[in-house]
Amino acid sequence: MKKNLQRLDLIFKNEHDSEAILKKTFGRTDDDVINDLISSGLKGRGGAGFPTGLKWKLAAETQSDEKFVICNADEGEPGTFKDREILSSVPHKVLSGMAVCAKIIGAKKGYIYLRSEYNFLKPQLLRVIDEFHDLFDSLNLDFRVEIFMGSGAYICGEESALFESMEGKRGEPRNKPPFPTDSGYKNKPTVINNVETLAHTYSILKYGADKFKDLGIQDSRGSKVFSVSGDTPAPGIYELEFGMSLQKFVDDFGDGDSKAVQVGGASGFCVPRKRFNKTVIGYQGKLRGTSLPTGGSMMIFNSSRSMYNVLHNYLDFFVEESCGQCTPCRVGTQQLLLGIQAVKKGEQPSSYLNKLLDLAEAMRVTAKCGLGQSVANSFSSIVENFKEEMIY
Ligand code: SF4
Repeated sequence: MKKNLQRLDLIFKNEHDSEAILKKTFGRTDDDVINDLISSGLKGRGGAGFPTGLKWKLAAETQSDEKFVICNADEGEPGTFKDREILSSVPHKVLSGMAVCAKIIGAKKGYIYLRSEYNFLKPQLLRVIDEFHDLFDSLNLDFRVEIFMGSGAYICGEESALFESMEGKRGEPRNKPPFPTDSGYKNKPTVINNVETLAHTYSILKYGADKFKDLGIQDSRGSKVFSVSGDTPAPGIYELEFGMSLQKFVDDFGDGDSKAVQVGGASGFCVPRKRFNKTVIGYQGKLRGTSLPTGGSMMIFNSSRSMYNVLHNYLDFFVEESCGQCTPCRVGTQQLLLGIQAVKKGEQPSSYLNKLLDLAEAMRVTAKCGLGQSVANSFSSIVENFKEEMIY
């Protein structure tokens, strides 16, 4: 990390007052707590960015004999590794968030859906869950948490595919609506939140909505945990305030020769050097030039990198991880890969890239889920900004 970088310490602060926070929160009305979450501006940190308080409110309002809280720890976006660190260092914050959610929506069962590659975290998590079960009993909270291990499929990070896999079926996304707050796991109302989102609820409950809201910008409030990798002298996990320009980010984390940053992993956007100053790190929204930090991956590339190879790697990944359920994604990912190979070998003219860009945009509007829809993000941003590296 370079000089003058303002690194926050909300999530990773070593504070162990879950019992006090749960007692205090359970003494408030559910409406009060939900209103706090809504006014904090907290949005989902897994990528989709849905307002967390509203999600809890919708699930609370849905009538059902059974509801669930699920922590999505199927962290599989290339370049993203922050949930692993949050679960390693502050699992009690995640469990506290799950407990408050369970109390508010009326769930008795919760699951941590843990990426199979994070199996090594399971023993520690089980110990913390045991401690929390004792705490829940002492607070008369009828809530139990289990760990459900994923099986290595990227698509199972998509919430409805995750439910399918928990139900013992193929991990394939469902049609939406219905949304999980109406019909999720076992077709019951379900709140599914990313690991980091749940950890943020702890900070909001402890320090108040205003403190959280004071951080960030217009429609991107609070802090965000970023996984920084690539051509950087300081790879790692950093909690930063939303609203930082990408130029400042590169000044702090780059090696002085950064030519692009992939914001949001393979599903995100590649921002070239000429746009560093015009890009603000935050959710895509009203502020022009903002860039969605899907999951919080920031991959920095310097001038020694071939952006053709970068794109080739992403497409290899998407071809491998497409669940194959819908044609635009199953066939489209393969055609994009074959297409850039053909242009690079000179078997197709450079103008063929325009057809591939059209195909990627068609996938954005016709693919069934976020995987196929978001391929166009990296594809178009890399091809349009680094066309000279794509051709023969
Ligand atoms: Fe499966 Fe891809 Fe279609 Fe999503 S977009 S349902 S991953 S084939």
